[in-house]
Amino acid sequence: MAEEFRMIQDLVAKFVDNELMPLEPAVLAREIKGEKLALTKEEEGPLLRKCKELGLWGLDAPPELGGMNLPATVWMAINEELGRTVTPFVFPPDSPNLHMLLATVDDNQRRKYLEPYARGDATGAIAISEPGAGGDPAGMTTRAEKDDGGWVINGRKIWISRVAAADFTIVMARIGSGKRHEGITAFIVEKGTPGFEIVREIPMLAGHRTYEVVFENCRVPEAQLLGRVGAGFAPMQLRLVVRRLQIGAWCLGMSRRALDMMCSHAKLRVTFGVPLADRQAIQWWIADAATKMHACRLMLLDAATKQEQKQDVRTEASMIKVYATEMATEIIDHAMQTLGAMGVTKELPLHLMAQKVRVMRVYEGPTEIHRMVIARSVLKGAR
Ligand SMILES: Cc1cc2nc3c(=O)[nH]c(=O)nc-3n(C[C@H](O)[C@H](O)[C@H](O)COP(=O)(O)OP(=O)(O)OC[C@H]3O[C@@H](n4cnc5c(N)ncnc54)[C@H](O)[C@@H]3O)c2cc1C
Repeated sequence: MAEEFRMIQDLVAKFVDNELMPLEPAVLAREIKGEKLALTKEEEGPLLRKCKELGLWGLDAPPELGGMNLPATVWMAINEELGRTVTPFVFPPDSPNLHMLLATVDDNQRRKYLEPYARGDATGAIAISEPGAGGDPAGMTTRAEKDDGGWVINGRKIWISRVAAADFTIVMARIGSGKRHEGITAFIVEKGTPGFEIVREIPMLAGHRTYEVVFENCRVPEAQLLGRVGAGFAPMQLRLVVRRLQIGAWCLGMSRRALDMMCSHAKLRVTFGVPLADRQAIQWWIADAATKMHACRLMLLDAATKQEQKQDVRTEASMIKVYATEMATEIIDHAMQTLGAMGVTKELPLHLMAQKVRVMRVYEGPTEIHRMVIARSVLKGAR
């Protein structure tokens, strides 16, 4: 990595150590009480100011939006650092929606949604999943019908993150009688639009909150159609790839933290007159963890390099999502086991890391579906 990019990575590592890690006790305390883990306004405000001050903003946004347009390889390293902490924070603006908007907006939408989003003056959510179609979004039934000068959306979405607070939500809906991917179109629905109702908040593992949302004759103007009619699936996939790679890097960061905890405890703790670090069982966990993390980092670098060359990395992203989440699940579990009773207290972040990675095996596509996608791609190329 070039020196200037290494300096940015070091800056992010310091930000994680000095600004995010100190918030962990408060985050863990909220988890013990069963509360939402998201940062409070009082916690988030100073962090955002610090990010602006340090230039840690719009890291993967283009310069015309005030961003740094960092190479994907650097962006991976930054997300690995962020993954080391259980304090829920991403450098604004959250990347997946940024990339979907970049791929779809017209001039008007650019001014109205993308620019405020990139500046951090607006927040967004995405509504794809439905009660009958989650891992297989092409089965969605939410519909949009053309009406005088606009569109009317009817349907139900579920498991939608951030939608309660978001200034706008990208809503995927079906147009016409197309089957599967055909007809799927993206719309921007602003907070408070009549007919757009949040009907339920759903507490999830790791302090996540998702929401069930109903669209009942929800009318949006033509100007809020995002991209082309019936061409919503591809930019939605692009968005999913961005998050899947990010999840891979977060898992690597979590694994690093768990391995560090495992090693320092194993060196100190003596049982039957011998440090745990001298036991083969523990050594093999450490060796396997280090080996898998090395493989995962190389997978991320490979995918990021291909992304920089504008190659299609959908299959690589699926591989990373599967490998990294399973790797982190195992390493965190071994760290918990090495630390004994201490490993399963709610005072340490390990249990929260275990919950976070458990949830990651479901969202942005469950592991089994990614394996199906990878196998399909391999079989297609096989003679
Ligand atoms: C914390 C969290 C946040 C989320 N945020 C959002 C959001 O912001 N916006 C949004 O639109 N959605 C969101 N989701 C939804 C998420 O994307 C879906 O839950 C996910 O895609 C799985 O869909 P499903 O729950 O309907 O499971 P299903 O598709 O019903 O699958 C259930 C299980 O069946 C098995 N399975 C399914 N298909 C296959 C197959 N082909 N081969 C083998 N096994 C299979 C898998 O084990 C899978 O886990 C979120 C989910 C979570 C947990």
